Amino acid sequence: MMWMRQMMEASFLTALLLGSTAFVTGCSQKAGPAGDQAATQAEPAAVETVVDDHSGWWCAEHGVPEEECTLCSSEAAERAQAKGDWCEEHDRAESQCFICHPELEAKFAARYEAKYGKKPPAPKK
Ligand SMILES: [Zn+2]
Ligand SMILES: [Zn+2]
Repeated sequence: MMWMRQMMEASFLTALLLGSTAFVTGCSQKAGPAGDQAATQAEPAAVETVVDDHSGWWCAEHGVPEEECTLCSSEAAERAQAKGDWCEEHDRAESQCFICHPELEAKFAARYEAKYGKKPPAPKK
């Protein structure tokens, strides 16, 4: 009856191998979302360095006065939306959408230059 024991041993080993494969798979699946979370957590910190860089009046990130920045101020966004001044595609005031209206960037930059006598930092798109 030696063959019987050998077969049992073989199936035990197979089960062990399958078990460890399942463990590894389960483990890497868990690592996925955790890794994503770490990446999202790292992002706001990077944005903050840009925000720290500006004067308080000017939103360096978006190239408009902070008070009027529809990307940073929900009040400004509401005011713009109430006027129908809204770019649905880029989720900001149409009058501040440098993607649809690249010429507006210079218009806002001129206001910064008038106040500080220098050009504003290039906004993020
Ligand atoms: Zn902004
Ligand atoms: Zn747009």
